[in-house]
Amino acid sequence: MRLKLKLKTVFILYFTVSLLGLIYALMQLGQRCDCTEHDLAKDRTISRLREKLHSLLEQTKKAEPTKPLKPPLPTIYVITPTYARLVQKAELTRLSHTFLLVPQLHWIVVEDSPHRTGLVSEFLSHSGLAFTHLHVATPHERKLQEGDPSWLKPRGAEQRNEGLRWLRENIRSQEGGVIYFADDDNTYSLQLFEEMRWTQRVSVWPVGLVGGMRYERPIVEQGHVVRFHTGWRPSRPFPLDMAGFAVSLRLVLANPEARFDGDAPMGFLESSFLQSLVTMEELEPKADLCTKVLVWHTRTEKPKMKREEAMQKQGLGSDPAVEV
Ligand code: UDP
Ligand code: MN
Repeated sequence: MRLKLKLKTVFILYFTVSLLGLIYALMQLGQRCDCTEHDLAKDRTISRLREKLHSLLEQTKKAEPTKPLKPPLPTIYVITPTYARLVQKAELTRLSHTFLLVPQLHWIVVEDSPHRTGLVSEFLSHSGLAFTHLHVATPHERKLQEGDPSWLKPRGAEQRNEGLRWLRENIRSQEGGVIYFADDDNTYSLQLFEEMRWTQRVSVWPVGLVGGMRYERPIVEQGHVVRFHTGWRPSRPFPLDMAGFAVSLRLVLANPEARFDGDAPMGFLESSFLQSLVTMEELEPKADLCTKVLVWHTRTEKPKMKREEAMQKQGLGSDPAVEV
């Protein structure tokens, strides 16, 4: 009887303790633990990582000035002669859209005019390009007259010289750069500008649709220009089109007498300038050793104004206040 009671007591005690244990365990589930120890370890790791990051940042900061700096891109100074005519704004628009895609380009626009015109001033100020706006009028006796064949007199000589004068007076040679003479009516690929950018003295390349040929170009043997592929007077000192070469700024500044001779005989304008700067052997062939055409001597048709004139006679001409 006593034993029975004892067993019963032990059983009840065991049951109660187990139940209490179970209740306690259930209460602990879903409650936050006392994690002080755990948090401390985490904090220590975070602060160690933070210190490491800080020291790495310090190290990279110190390392940066010793890294070899990329040399700055040489500026391409593009000199463009231009003159007032019906297609002028269209030509300048097309040209500016090409130049906007060329990094580090400075456009020197030289108007063949006794003053800067409103049309070109307005156009340039909205072009989004770095530019210099100059002007010089071609003297009457040197200017092509209506009906003259286009080859009779060189065009744009005074304007290119004016661009050279500005460069000589305003840019120092240490700045590095290259000069390119871009007529306002030609067509220029973007690759052309990267070909010319690192010119040492004078670089050369083919020009398409020029001189009555599919292209004209320097002929390269063993990396050097040895003669020229041209249909007309290959014996000229430099039988190259204006669009077919670029000159380093340094070379032009070192030779203050180098300029275009407006009285040069037909086809000798380019030679008159290049003769005082380089020899044929020194020319730097570009565009895959002068095998690629990257610029075209395109010419824009003169628009016919027959209808406009007829309408004007009837007092119905286009509004002159609308700029074209
Ligand atoms: N040009 C000029 N004044 C003129 C005729 C032409 O300034 O009286 C400019 C023209 O805008 C162009 C460059 O000189 O940028 C060459 O002229 P053009 O394209 O007529 O020459 P071509 O293509 O016949 O050699
Ligand atoms: Mn032209």
